[in-house]
Amino acid sequence: MEKIAVFPGSFDPFTIGHESIVRRGLQLFDKIIVAIGTNTDKTDYFPLETRMKWIKKVFEDEPRIKVDSYNSLTVNYCKKMKARYLLRGLRTAADFEYERVIAQVNHAMEKEIEVVFLLTLPEHTFINSTVVREVIKFGGDARKFLPEAIDLTEMRP
Ligand code: ADP
Repeated sequence: MEKIAVFPGSFDPFTIGHESIVRRGLQLFDKIIVAIGTNTDKTDYFPLETRMKWIKKVFEDEPRIKVDSYNSLTVNYCKKMKARYLLRGLRTAADFEYERVIAQVNHAMEKEIEVVFLLTLPEHTFINSTVVREVIKFGGDARKFLPEAIDLTEMRP
Protein backbone atom coordinates (compact mmCIF):
# COMPACT_ATOMS: atom_id res chain seq x y z
CA MET A 1 0.00 0.00 0.00
CA GLU A 2 1.26 3.46 -0.89
CA LYS A 3 2.58 5.33 2.16
CA ILE A 4 1.05 8.79 2.07
CA ALA A 5 1.87 11.49 4.65
CA VAL A 6 0.33 14.90 5.17
CA PHE A 7 2.68 17.68 6.31
CA PRO A 8 0.23 20.25 7.71
CA GLY A 9 1.08 23.80 8.69
CA SER A 10 0.50 27.48 8.15
CA PHE A 11 3.77 27.95 6.22
CA ASP A 12 3.46 31.72 6.51
CA PRO A 13 6.01 31.68 4.92
CA PHE A 14 7.51 28.28 4.03
CA THR A 15 11.12 28.22 5.32
CA ILE A 16 14.22 26.09 4.73
CA GLY A 17 13.31 24.34 8.00
CA HIS A 18 10.03 23.16 6.47
CA GLU A 19 11.73 22.25 3.19
CA SER A 20 14.29 20.10 4.97
CA ILE A 21 11.62 18.16 6.90
CA VAL A 22 9.69 17.42 3.68
CA ARG A 23 12.79 16.32 1.74
CA ARG A 24 13.92 14.07 4.58
CA GLY A 25 10.38 12.71 4.82
CA LEU A 26 10.64 11.48 1.24
CA GLN A 27 12.94 8.74 2.51
CA LEU A 28 10.09 7.44 4.67
CA PHE A 29 7.00 7.99 2.52
CA ASP A 30 5.99 7.39 -1.10
CA LYS A 31 4.07 10.63 -1.28
CA ILE A 32 3.88 13.76 0.90
CA ILE A 33 1.06 16.28 0.75
CA VAL A 34 2.14 19.70 2.02
CA ALA A 35 -1.21 21.02 3.23
CA ILE A 36 -1.89 24.56 4.34
CA GLY A 37 -4.52 24.44 7.04
CA THR A 38 -6.62 27.12 8.63
CA ASN A 39 -5.13 27.71 12.07
CA THR A 40 -7.72 29.42 14.24
CA ASP A 41 -5.02 30.95 16.49
CA LYS A 42 -3.10 32.58 13.65
CA THR A 43 -3.95 35.32 11.19
CA ASP A 44 -2.47 34.96 7.71
CA TYR A 45 0.26 37.34 6.65
CA PHE A 46 0.83 36.06 3.12
CA PRO A 47 -2.27 35.14 1.12
CA LEU A 48 -3.03 31.44 0.75
CA GLU A 49 -2.53 31.55 -3.04
CA THR A 50 0.96 33.05 -2.67
CA ARG A 51 1.98 30.46 -0.10
CA MET A 52 0.67 27.64 -2.31
CA LYS A 53 2.47 29.02 -5.35
CA TRP A 54 5.78 29.29 -3.48
CA ILE A 55 5.63 25.75 -2.09
CA LYS A 56 4.72 24.34 -5.52
CA LYS A 57 7.73 26.11 -6.98
CA VAL A 58 10.06 24.73 -4.28
CA PHE A 59 9.03 21.17 -5.17
CA GLU A 60 8.29 21.53 -8.88
CA ASP A 61 10.87 18.83 -9.75
CA GLU A 62 9.57 16.37 -7.19
CA PRO A 63 6.49 14.49 -8.42
CA ARG A 64 6.05 12.72 -5.08
CA ILE A 65 5.19 16.00 -3.33
CA LYS A 66 1.78 17.60 -3.70
CA VAL A 67 0.64 20.97 -2.35
CA ASP A 68 -2.90 21.57 -1.15
CA SER A 69 -4.99 23.50 1.38
CA TYR A 70 -7.81 22.46 3.68
CA ASN A 71 -10.16 23.94 6.22
CA SER A 72 -11.37 20.97 8.17
CA LEU A 73 -10.03 18.86 11.01
CA THR A 74 -6.57 17.64 10.02
CA VAL A 75 -7.44 13.97 10.67
CA ASN A 76 -10.53 14.23 8.46
CA TYR A 77 -8.43 15.77 5.73
CA CYS A 78 -5.94 12.87 6.06
CA LYS A 79 -8.75 10.34 5.69
CA LYS A 80 -10.04 12.12 2.62
CA MET A 81 -6.57 12.02 1.07
CA LYS A 82 -6.03 8.37 2.16
CA ALA A 83 -3.01 9.44 4.18
CA ARG A 84 -2.15 7.27 7.20
CA TYR A 85 0.68 9.47 8.43
CA LEU A 86 1.03 13.00 9.70
CA LEU A 87 4.53 14.45 9.40
CA ARG A 88 5.68 17.15 11.83
CA GLY A 89 8.98 18.80 12.65
CA LEU A 90 10.39 19.21 16.15
CA ARG A 91 12.82 21.95 17.09
CA THR A 92 12.70 22.39 20.84
CA ALA A 93 11.14 21.10 24.03
CA ALA A 94 8.47 23.80 23.61
CA ASP A 95 7.62 22.35 20.18
CA PHE A 96 7.44 18.92 21.77
CA GLU A 97 4.86 19.98 24.37
CA TYR A 98 2.72 21.73 21.75
CA GLU A 99 3.00 18.86 19.27
CA ARG A 100 2.43 16.18 21.89
CA VAL A 101 -1.04 17.48 22.76
CA ILE A 102 -2.11 17.85 19.12
CA ALA A 103 -0.72 14.44 18.20
CA GLN A 104 -2.44 12.71 21.09
CA VAL A 105 -5.76 14.41 20.35
CA ASN A 106 -5.44 13.46 16.68
CA HIS A 107 -4.56 9.88 17.55
CA ALA A 108 -7.49 9.68 19.99
CA MET A 109 -9.82 10.83 17.21
CA GLU A 110 -8.36 8.61 14.49
CA LYS A 111 -6.48 5.49 15.60
CA GLU A 112 -5.43 4.64 12.06
CA ILE A 113 -3.31 7.76 11.75
CA GLU A 114 0.24 7.80 13.08
CA VAL A 115 2.09 11.05 13.70
CA VAL A 116 5.76 10.90 12.69
CA PHE A 117 8.19 13.53 14.03
CA LEU A 118 11.51 14.43 12.50
CA LEU A 119 13.98 16.32 14.65
CA THR A 120 15.15 19.46 12.93
CA LEU A 121 18.71 19.80 11.67
CA PRO A 122 20.69 21.76 14.30
CA GLU A 123 21.22 24.67 11.90
CA HIS A 124 17.46 25.08 11.44
CA THR A 125 16.52 25.02 15.12
CA PHE A 126 16.11 28.79 15.45
CA ILE A 127 14.20 29.29 12.20
CA ASN A 128 10.50 29.92 12.54
CA SER A 129 7.96 31.61 10.30
CA THR A 130 7.09 34.27 12.88
CA VAL A 131 10.65 35.57 13.05
CA VAL A 132 11.10 35.36 9.27
CA ARG A 133 7.90 37.43 8.85
CA GLU A 134 9.28 40.07 11.22
CA VAL A 135 12.54 40.26 9.25
CA ILE A 136 10.55 40.74 6.04
CA LYS A 137 8.15 43.30 7.57
CA PHE A 138 11.05 45.46 8.70
CA GLY A 139 12.92 45.22 5.42
CA GLY A 140 15.66 42.78 6.50
CA ASP A 141 17.21 40.18 4.23
CA ALA A 142 15.28 36.97 4.84
CA ARG A 143 16.72 35.06 1.89
CA LYS A 144 18.96 32.83 3.97
CA PHE A 145 15.88 31.45 5.76
CA LEU A 146 13.88 30.76 2.62
CA PRO A 147 14.15 28.07 -0.05
CA GLU A 148 15.97 29.33 -3.15
CA ALA A 149 12.86 28.96 -5.32
CA ILE A 150 11.01 31.60 -3.31
CA ASP A 151 11.33 34.95 -5.02
CA LEU A 152 11.74 37.74 -2.48
CA THR A 153 10.33 40.36 -4.83
CA GLU A 154 6.99 38.56 -4.49
CA MET A 155 7.30 38.76 -0.71
CA ARG A 156 4.56 41.33 -0.30
CA PRO A 157 1.37 40.27 1.39
P1 ADP B 1 1.71 25.33 12.55
O1 ADP B 1 0.89 26.57 12.43
O2 ADP B 1 0.94 24.07 12.34
O3 ADP B 1 2.61 25.27 13.76
P2 ADP B 1 4.07 25.91 10.98
O4 ADP B 1 4.04 26.38 9.58
O5 ADP B 1 4.55 26.89 11.99
O6 ADP B 1 2.61 25.40 11.27
O7 ADP B 1 4.92 24.59 11.11
C1 ADP B 1 4.59 23.40 10.45
C2 ADP B 1 5.45 22.26 10.96
O8 ADP B 1 6.81 22.52 10.63
C3 ADP B 1 5.43 22.08 12.48
O9 ADP B 1 5.53 20.70 12.77
C4 ADP B 1 6.66 22.79 12.95
O10 ADP B 1 7.14 22.27 14.17
C5 ADP B 1 7.60 22.47 11.80
N1 ADP B 1 8.68 23.44 11.67
C6 ADP B 1 8.59 24.79 11.62
N2 ADP B 1 9.80 25.37 11.50
C7 ADP B 1 10.71 24.35 11.49
C8 ADP B 1 12.14 24.28 11.43
N3 ADP B 1 12.89 25.37 11.37
N4 ADP B 1 12.72 23.04 11.46
C9 ADP B 1 11.95 21.94 11.54
N5 ADP B 1 10.60 21.93 11.62
C10 ADP B 1 9.98 23.11 11.59
